[in-house]
Amino acid sequence: MAKTRDYSTLLEAWSGWRNAVGPPSKQLFSRMIEINNLGVQSAGFHDTSEIWKNELGISNLENIVDDLYATIQPLYVQLHAFVRGRLSAIDKTGVVHSDRPLPAHVLGNMWAQNWEPILPQLLPTAALSGGEDATQVLRRRYSSFNQLVVVAQDFFLSLGFQPLPPTFWSRSQFVRPNDGRKPVCHGSATDFYSQEDVRLLMCGKINEDDFYTLHHEMGHLYYFLTYSHQPFLFRSGASSAFHEAIGDTIIYAAMATKHRHRLGFVSTGNKTNPKDLDIINLLRQALVKIPILPFSLALEKWRWGVMAGQIKPNQYNQAWWNLKLKYQGIVPPIERSEKDFDPASKFHIISNTPYIRYFLSSVLQVQIFQALCEASGQGPRFGKPLNQCDIYGSIEAGNRLREMMSLGSSHPWNVALKVLTHEENPKIDAQPLMDYYQPLHEWLVIENRRLNYTIGFD
Ligand SMILES: [Zn+2]
Repeated sequence: MAKTRDYSTLLEAWSGWRNAVGPPSKQLFSRMIEINNLGVQSAGFHDTSEIWKNELGISNLENIVDDLYATIQPLYVQLHAFVRGRLSAIDKTGVVHSDRPLPAHVLGNMWAQNWEPILPQLLPTAALSGGEDATQVLRRRYSSFNQLVVVAQDFFLSLGFQPLPPTFWSRSQFVRPNDGRKPVCHGSATDFYSQEDVRLLMCGKINEDDFYTLHHEMGHLYYFLTYSHQPFLFRSGASSAFHEAIGDTIIYAAMATKHRHRLGFVSTGNKTNPKDLDIINLLRQALVKIPILPFSLALEKWRWGVMAGQIKPNQYNQAWWNLKLKYQGIVPPIERSEKDFDPASKFHIISNTPYIRYFLSSVLQVQIFQALCEASGQGPRFGKPLNQCDIYGSIEAGNRLREMMSLGSSHPWNVALKVLTHEENPKIDAQPLMDYYQPLHEWLVIENRRLNYTIGFD
């Protein structure tokens, strides 16, 4: 999905995957929902969504996420308009229309949740280059996936974290084993609850996507290690959203222009002027970090509806696409019916993993990034834009982060957030995210107006 831009090949992959996994799992899924609900009802809850919402320790969770998204939506709508305008302008096949919702298969990702692979198509001219192709750079420099793990670890070491323990290196699975075993390959990090036995499971390949996934998983691993002195019951995150946010905060730092230079992702001979390069890099980050917000919101609203019985099995697929259209402005590329079960194409639906944590994490990670940025003496408080912040090598930023992480779940999440932000009554707040992307947001508004691109997907 990331590599080819041939729309018929993409459609084949998109529908092939959904045909393979959807229909066989629909009945099993609805039965699982029934059984889950029987279990929680015997404990006095209405349905499973109630427990899933409670887990985050945020009262009125649904209103809170709606409010957060209301702040972010104007940015998403501009990004969506720009992507659609650019794709339709270069599309000779009539698949992408300039004023209709985006078809789900053309965005560089099986689930349309990360649009970064289509960045080259979005750049206005070939002369404007976002730098080197990071995957090519990684393949040139490194011959084994282990080396990539070392590079990801290096960012954490620069913040004063200890090297991962020897058992991590000997007991993890970094790449797909070639001895006939067929493991689940979805990347995961696991705490074995000794003082230092933490492990990674991946079927990693040397490419940009997996490189950043490593940072994400390493955030979990270092969180496990940093609270390992706590009693067993407190050895988890301030909330699951915090657990997801740590590694992604580091991804923000690692994707910053300065660090991309350090990694050799921007060649020294690059002729693009620095201001354009900054906008391109913000666009790259936005393509990774912004579509996941409406994606995760639509996904979990669907599942809450299913669990609460508001969405019946004979409405599963239609309700899924209704929410995708409403929040993401995306439609299926071919006709769908209730014979299809497209939610099953996503790992977290089939593995029954709660998902709103990823929405909250996407907001929280920029708040944490801002706090670390300030701890290192940079950022808005020091008159510098948040997106220019470079925390690599900052022990002060590392100390601030470790102070929060070492709490585990011994305190409510707002105490953990206070340790980071030093605010009296901190809330989960989308403003740092909007500040981070503010120059890009402005640029998108101007470009969309100049190019007369349709805005919105009502
Ligand atoms: Zn994770």
